[in-house]
Amino acid sequence: MQKWRIGEVTVTKIVELETTGGSRFILPQATREACIGIGWMRPHFMDDEGRLKMSIHALVVETPARRIVVDTCLGNDKQGRSVPTWNGLQGPFLRDLAAAGFARESIDTVLCTHLHVDHVGWNTMLVGGRWVPTFPNARYLMGRTEFEYWRSKRDHAEQSSVFDDSVAPVFDAGLVDLVDTDHRVCDEVRLVATVGHTPGHVSIEITSGGQSALITGDFVHHPCQMAWPAWASTADYDAEQSTRTRREVFGRLAGTPTLVIGTHFAGATAGRVVRDGDAFMLET
Ligand SMILES: [Zn+2]
Repeated sequence: MQKWRIGEVTVTKIVELETTGGSRFILPQATREACIGIGWMRPHFMDDEGRLKMSIHALVVETPARRIVVDTCLGNDKQGRSVPTWNGLQGPFLRDLAAAGFARESIDTVLCTHLHVDHVGWNTMLVGGRWVPTFPNARYLMGRTEFEYWRSKRDHAEQSSVFDDSVAPVFDAGLVDLVDTDHRVCDEVRLVATVGHTPGHVSIEITSGGQSALITGDFVHHPCQMAWPAWASTADYDAEQSTRTRREVFGRLAGTPTLVIGTHFAGATAGRVVRDGDAFMLET
C-alpha cells in the first residue's frame, strides 16, 4: 500500500485498475515511438517497449480532523460507459478501502476534482436496483461550475449518463455542497483551479508542517505530458487552455519540494517536478 506523509497529513492510494498500453485513445500523440526515448519514465510510467502505464485510483487524505476521499474511480455495476471494460465492473475497491482502515461509513468528505466517469463512480453503489450514496456520512464537495456544466449537458442527453447514476443520486440525497474553485476544505486542504480538462476542473493542494503536495486530478493524465505539455488528452474540453494550465503549473512547481501526486500516475505515482530543457520531468 502506498502512503505519503505531508506534515500531519497522510495520503493513501487505493487502486481500482492499472493498465499498460492501450492509452492511445486518451493521449494519441504519445505513441510508443514518441515515448520510448523519454528514459526517465521507466519503469514506473512506461515499460521497456514504450507502452504507457496508467492507473485509476482514489486517494484518501487524512488530516488531524478530516478523512477525505479524493476522486472515486469507476465504481461497480455501472452501464452505458463508452469504454466497454468499464461496464459491469465487480472489483474489490470497497473491500480494499476497508482493509486499508477506511470503512466507507468513516469517510466524512468526498472531493471530486471534476465529474468525469472515472472520478465519480464510487460516489454511488447499487443496492436493491437503486443507486445510493456509497459514503452516507460524507459531504460530497463538487465545483459549482463543473456541476452546472454537466447538469446542463445531461438535460440535453438522450441516454442516461454518468451524471444520472453517479452524481444526481448524491445530490438528491442532499449530500452535495457546491463550492468555488478556490474553496478551503480545512486548514491543510484547499482547491486550486486547473481548468482546461473540464470547465471547472480543480486540483487539491495540501500544506502541513512546512511541507506541501498537489493532487493533480486530470489537468495532466500521464507524466509524458511533463516532457510534452502540449500533448492534450482527447478528454480535454479545451486543449489550448489545458496546455496553458500544464505549462503554468509545472513552471510554478519546478524545482520546489512540493510533492506532485498524480491521479492517473502508475507505479511510484508521486514525485517532484524539475526542469528538463524547455520542458519538465518527474523525479520519483
Ligand atoms: Zn480521469
